[in-house]
Amino acid sequence: MAKSVKVIFLGGVGEIGKNMTALEFGDDIIIVDCGVEFPQGDSPGIDAIIPDITYIRENRKKLRGIVLTHGHEDHIGALPYYADELNVPVYGTALTLGLLERKLAERGVKAQLNKVKEGDVVTLGCFEVEFIKVAHSMAGACALSVTTPIGVIFVTGDFKIDNTPIDGKKTDLQRIAEIGAKGVMLMLGESTNVERKGSSTSERVVGQGLENIFVANADKRIVVACFASSNYRVQQILWLAEKYGRKVVLAGRSMKGIVEVASRVGELQVPKGIIADGVGKLPPEKLVVIATGSQGEPSSALNRMSRGDFNKVSVGPDDVVVLSSTPIPGNEKSVYDVINNLFRKGANVIYEAMNEVHVSGHAYEEELKIMLSLVRPKFFMPVHGEYRHQFKHAEIAKSLGIKDSSIVIPNIGEVYGVNMHSVKQHSNVPAGNVYVDGVVLEDGSSVVSDRRSLAEYGMLLVLASVDTEKGVMAGDADVIARGFNLTDEIEKEIADTVRDTVNGSDFDENGLGELARSVKKAVRKLFYRDRQFPIIIPIIVED
Ligand SMILES: [Zn+2]
Ligand SMILES: [Zn+2]
Repeated sequence: MAKSVKVIFLGGVGEIGKNMTALEFGDDIIIVDCGVEFPQGDSPGIDAIIPDITYIRENRKKLRGIVLTHGHEDHIGALPYYADELNVPVYGTALTLGLLERKLAERGVKAQLNKVKEGDVVTLGCFEVEFIKVAHSMAGACALSVTTPIGVIFVTGDFKIDNTPIDGKKTDLQRIAEIGAKGVMLMLGESTNVERKGSSTSERVVGQGLENIFVANADKRIVVACFASSNYRVQQILWLAEKYGRKVVLAGRSMKGIVEVASRVGELQVPKGIIADGVGKLPPEKLVVIATGSQGEPSSALNRMSRGDFNKVSVGPDDVVVLSSTPIPGNEKSVYDVINNLFRKGANVIYEAMNEVHVSGHAYEEELKIMLSLVRPKFFMPVHGEYRHQFKHAEIAKSLGIKDSSIVIPNIGEVYGVNMHSVKQHSNVPAGNVYVDGVVLEDGSSVVSDRRSLAEYGMLLVLASVDTEKGVMAGDADVIARGFNLTDEIEKEIADTVRDTVNGSDFDENGLGELARSVKKAVRKLFYRDRQFPIIIPIIVED
């Protein structure tokens, strides 16, 4: 029987999020991406969803390394949970690793990080992986051309084709064409924007849209909300601030942190002296605030501004607020809540397609066609999308002349054996959702054990608001039990424990996530006495 490469889908197919694919040949396995997915709506206590890596665990001895296409959460976000256990070299570009390092540090985890540049080739067992520059909504994004002993597997990663990129680095279509001309056995192509006709708009167009806003609102303060990781977007705002003589305030922990990372690795040029520590006495017309929260996240800077409780900025009629993003499906309600609140406060709000304040980082239909035409794979598998995206992408491949029998829509957990002559499905491997609890990954935690705890012991919500300036509790903690009864004494004991924990913590340094972890631990101890194990969900907010 002819040898084949096993392609193992551990995430990112049939869903948008937690991308993870493993390639196996003989005694070697490599992993492409290791992403997280954020739960939508009401998943109490669940912070993140990560791929099930049972198969990798069982074959740990074969694992030669992890290669990362780029630094978005849906491609790197699960690594902090698995880096210790897998403990193999990780390869990515400077920004990808910079962002990963920040996430690893948050969990106090280290990994063997190996920086690559576009064009580099790394050898991992029998696999040779070439990193190829592609344009995306962040710098450092790469497609991967993986040469195996029996053929080339081309992974597009997230990409778009932008002829006027902010950093001047275009998708390397020439190199991709060369690889295609030599022959590609299998292509895994991202499908996010397959439903959109035509081609995506250049990131540069957003700069023009934003400049129009700067000109039309010369007497107002400008607040722009965008993803902190969208370094090109942040870059254009910084350039405009410089051009129009405004200082920039970065609002939100991740905005500050990621701007620092991007400028340190050379993917963001911060004009000298432009960043102000705080709003201070600066008049509105001399200020731009770049804030997190373009998806309506509850604790983000923008959401808190919209509720009037962001300590340094209160939004009002002197503000124009720009949402430089589009709501991710599932986030619409929270985004529109924020927009409603901003209008109520008297601000002018600019969002969505108005004024071209956002463009997508993912290829539209015509760009997907260009990619397929250049790579010209023997076999094609659409990935990075829900089933309908994969299905439409398969249709596009057919329209370009790829044979029906050469196109496979993979599902999560499926394993395929691929060689130049055929694609065959093997048995499945365990795959699906592993749930990360509020702050800690509880080993073996899954929805099943959560449900068991809920059924047997119930759930306890602990809500505390803290004064971050003074480092103490603001008021008393609220304690809500579901599924069991709380006596007055124990309720008071819990509230006291929360107060002691908060007041005794140096949470300014460690952040509220760390504080929530301590509160949970302390409260859980109270229940150990009676051998009770309710699910405890601490919710700590800034007063
Ligand atoms: Zn991406
Ligand atoms: Zn992605």
